[in-house]
Amino acid sequence: MRMSRMMLKTLREAPAEAELVSHKLLLRAGLVVPVAAGIYSYTPFGWRVHRRIEAIIRQEMDRSGGQEVHLPALQPREAWAQSGRDRTMDPVLFRLQDRRERDFVLGPTHEEMVSLLAARHIQSYRDLPVTLYQIQTKFRDEPRPRGGLIRVREFTMMDAYSFDAGWEALDESYQLAYDAYFRIFERGGVPVIPVDADSGAIGGKDSQEFIFLTESGEDTILLCDGCGYAANAEKAEFRMPPPVEGDPLPLERVHTPGQKTIAGLANFLGVEERQTAKAVFYLADGAPTFVAIRGDLEVNEVKLTNALKATVLKAMDDGDVRRFGLTAGSAGPIGLKGMTIVADESVIDAPNLVSGANEDDWHLKNVNYDRDWKADIVASISLARDGDGCARCDGRLRERRGIEMGHVFKLGTMYSEAMDVRYLDRAGERHDTVMGCYGIGVERMLAAVIEANHDKDGIIWPKDVAPFDLHIVALDLHELAVSRALQEVEDALAGAGITALVDDRDDSPGIKFKDADLLGMPVRLTVGPRALSRGGIELRARRTSESEIVPIESLVGRLGTL
Ligand SMILES: [Zn+2]
Repeated sequence: MRMSRMMLKTLREAPAEAELVSHKLLLRAGLVVPVAAGIYSYTPFGWRVHRRIEAIIRQEMDRSGGQEVHLPALQPREAWAQSGRDRTMDPVLFRLQDRRERDFVLGPTHEEMVSLLAARHIQSYRDLPVTLYQIQTKFRDEPRPRGGLIRVREFTMMDAYSFDAGWEALDESYQLAYDAYFRIFERGGVPVIPVDADSGAIGGKDSQEFIFLTESGEDTILLCDGCGYAANAEKAEFRMPPPVEGDPLPLERVHTPGQKTIAGLANFLGVEERQTAKAVFYLADGAPTFVAIRGDLEVNEVKLTNALKATVLKAMDDGDVRRFGLTAGSAGPIGLKGMTIVADESVIDAPNLVSGANEDDWHLKNVNYDRDWKADIVASISLARDGDGCARCDGRLRERRGIEMGHVFKLGTMYSEAMDVRYLDRAGERHDTVMGCYGIGVERMLAAVIEANHDKDGIIWPKDVAPFDLHIVALDLHELAVSRALQEVEDALAGAGITALVDDRDDSPGIKFKDADLLGMPVRLTVGPRALSRGGIELRARRTSESEIVPIESLVGRLGTL
């Protein structure tokens, strides 16, 4: 492809709104053009990269026994009512109606559609196992699209779904997808680690995310420096600091003027923060909920949502707090009525805690669970943080940032029950199929490839992702010897099936070399009078900057060894 005929514009500087390296380079190298928040058009150059990532995913999914299908993006709302997700995914659903006012959604994911398809084909155990996948456009009404292609509202996802005759068989399908994912990320040049992830309130068993560790990521990961245990913050288990022991003492009311925070209160009373009980208020699907947790800990809202079996959890605002008659800063579980009371495990065993008295500027000392109050739900709902002890060894958990690149999930029977994907076993008995689901976002992968493969001059595409195998810089093309040599090189490459982007523009060598570095093909060839006088063309590796002169007749052979 000759650049003089290609629709491609590079930029010297990235627009000011771009913060992430990948976002800057995507715009500077002209891969995408923003249309609206979280919505992009791809240029020919950008789309080539997109297609190459898709190709890697296809090859590896096919290799692991997956079968490609294509499911509709425009989906009847009733299917979402059938699975219950018109409620649980409500905030991110794009909805629309047809001319007969029937309700549709633009699919943010395809469990319903694939289940409807599978239900038509799976009848007996002989029809299992099956893994279906597709690479398709998804729509999510994200509240905060960000970071170029990291979080977008219209995106491409490879989503795969396995159907098995039991949990053990699912383990095998899951492992196949897991291994395929590692190969995909390796070929894309994105180093990932698997971390334990939350599988939600809706059942399911194991769930793991593939995380690319990078400071620019928006996910928080906890990694044990002892045993290597890794989990995302929502899921991470940790060793809680022990409570301050003691025999239960009589309840006591204390005047605490102006003490509204745990730190202030602990300081005022001369106790440690772990000797207090913190009150946190939520609306769980609209129902008022009171959470008591030890003062030195934070609430893990995902664990809390699961413990409550709630769909939408929202922290109460000042208006809600007043409406439910709560005393912010002095609230406590004793005497509280008219709401669900949740206790974190941390307040159950800790004796003689300080908690609010539900009266401004008053607290209670020596509050003891069971003796003085009881919760409706007791659960482990505290959040692991940097420096906490590992639950599995003596090591410490360290907090790292990362980007979630893929997710594998043992889904179980939730969708097969709701959407009727059943099979008959050998004895003729009906069972729900056991499902797994697996997803990789292509746009996010593209962004991560750049985050993981660049230098100050531009992108350095890994071989399997590069939009062209080579970048050819032609200098002094008006000289007959150069144009002949270029033709010879292009013919040799075409014969060997090697793709090249040829910079034949009427620009200075400086501009051409800068663009070659920015656009990032793994190998640059320079065809010009100086190299020709030295016996061939200059070959330069983008990643190492090592260069050599190669005679044209041995070029294809040399490229084969790179
Ligand atoms: Zn550990």
